[in-house]
Amino acid sequence: DESDWAALADSFDEGAADDAVAVPVLAIVGRPNVGKSTLVNRILGRREAVVQDIPGVTRDRVAYDALWAGKRFTVLDTGGWEPGLEGLPGAIAAQAEYAMQHADAVVVVVDATVGATTTDEAVAKVLRRSKQPVILVANKVDDDRLLADTAALWSLGLGEPFPVSALHGRNSGDLLDAILKALPETPRERFGAVGGPRRVALVGKPNVGKSSLMNRLTGENRSVVDSVAGTTVDPVDSLVELDDQLWRFVDTAGLRKRVNFASGTEYYASLRTKAAIESAEVAIVLLDAAEPIAEQDLRVLTMVVESGRACVLAFNKWDLVDEDRRNQLEKELDRGLVRVPWAERVNVSALTGRAVRKLAPALRNALESWDTRISTGQLNSWLADLIAATPPPVRGGKQPKILFATQAQTRPPTFVLFTSGFLEAGYRRFIERKLREQFGFTGSPVRISVRVRE
Ligand code: GDP
Ligand code: GDP
Repeated sequence: DESDWAALADSFDEGAADDAVAVPVLAIVGRPNVGKSTLVNRILGRREAVVQDIPGVTRDRVAYDALWAGKRFTVLDTGGWEPGLEGLPGAIAAQAEYAMQHADAVVVVVDATVGATTTDEAVAKVLRRSKQPVILVANKVDDDRLLADTAALWSLGLGEPFPVSALHGRNSGDLLDAILKALPETPRERFGAVGGPRRVALVGKPNVGKSSLMNRLTGENRSVVDSVAGTTVDPVDSLVELDDQLWRFVDTAGLRKRVNFASGTEYYASLRTKAAIESAEVAIVLLDAAEPIAEQDLRVLTMVVESGRACVLAFNKWDLVDEDRRNQLEKELDRGLVRVPWAERVNVSALTGRAVRKLAPALRNALESWDTRISTGQLNSWLADLIAATPPPVRGGKQPKILFATQAQTRPPTFVLFTSGFLEAGYRRFIERKLREQFGFTGSPVRISVRVRE
């Protein structure tokens, strides 16, 4: 019965991966130059300057992992958004809107030495509707003389202003305590996922178009900061909104800057790729559709499969593919992609933007498979039928029995078969194939292990 299975399965449970633990998200908003970056550094406990002294310089939205008093959370620095047609107040209000939708708590930063500006008021107006806790930070309160200015910020209608000096650290410990109090234990559900934006690694051999695709995804105008060399420390990850969903592209500093990491030795390039895959939940493996599938492509794919991450195959440079090449590619796929027949394929062009919007649905599918849990009851009634129709091959005159199966883990789905004898690899593959026929798992590796009970 179900509970016996669960108890038995527990004794074999390898434990959920640490990186699957959901952490709450704190968003930092405010108009340019109020000290958001300085505050982010303060929260992260960093010493190095990531602050730009150039007012209004655009930054990408970035995410950082923070740790305070033993609690982990993600800090979303929504950056200084370029004012669009709606002007600065509109752009920053949109930023606040965004933060409310995606974060578990919002810190809004105001420059106490300046007081509340029309932009601050526009932001406050949005945040007064927030269901998430909002903490109003009066920054640049470097000494007590500025406390009177702090009190004036009550007028924003966001409760008590919290005076700090992000630059000198004044009151920042108290602020962090207040932030921790405001953040919920368990983060809210976001698009069915927990733990902040889902993490994506964009990987592939050199010159497949990773930088080009990254630039296409983040939009052309977000790289202003690149021309201000040395003024910032690289945020490692990029937040990208695709299909109304926020994604965290990991380790993209180099991609956004168009630095070719592979110009070092291939060994270091591959270490970096591996690290990116390990810190992601799903990988987009980019291939050059205009060229034959190469050994290096397969190495990247193998890394993804072995890491147990979900996977989407994106064939880039589709603008260069003619009919001949397409036919050729189909043949290569049959031979080259035998390890990942389950991965969804998207044919894109970073150059023209072709089908780039198909990436988000493919990522979502892959992650859904990766997260899938099949109940032990459902699994075993399916398995009983399967075994009855096609029993495991006899070995050494003995018929191995499959006693029962359970899904020990998700991310990726991992199944344990409890048997009375050895199961041949061919039969294990047969079970995996049938599992996929029945339950899907598009875009996710599936693992099957066998526990022989004497
Ligand atoms: P952001 O555009 O909101 O991210 O602002 P920055 O963090 O880049 O800071 C803008 C400027 O304000 C920089 O010159 C910082 O050094 C300065 N600044 C930030 N925090 C403080 C503070 O607490 N006191 C003072 N006096 N200056 C600060
Ligand atoms: P990375 O090394 O993977 O980051 O590749 P890059 O983004 O630097 O691109 C390598 C080369 O391929 C550059 O010359 C790009 O302009 C070109 N490229 C990238 N994407 C496409 C595409 O979709 N179509 C075509 N025709 N060229 C592309």
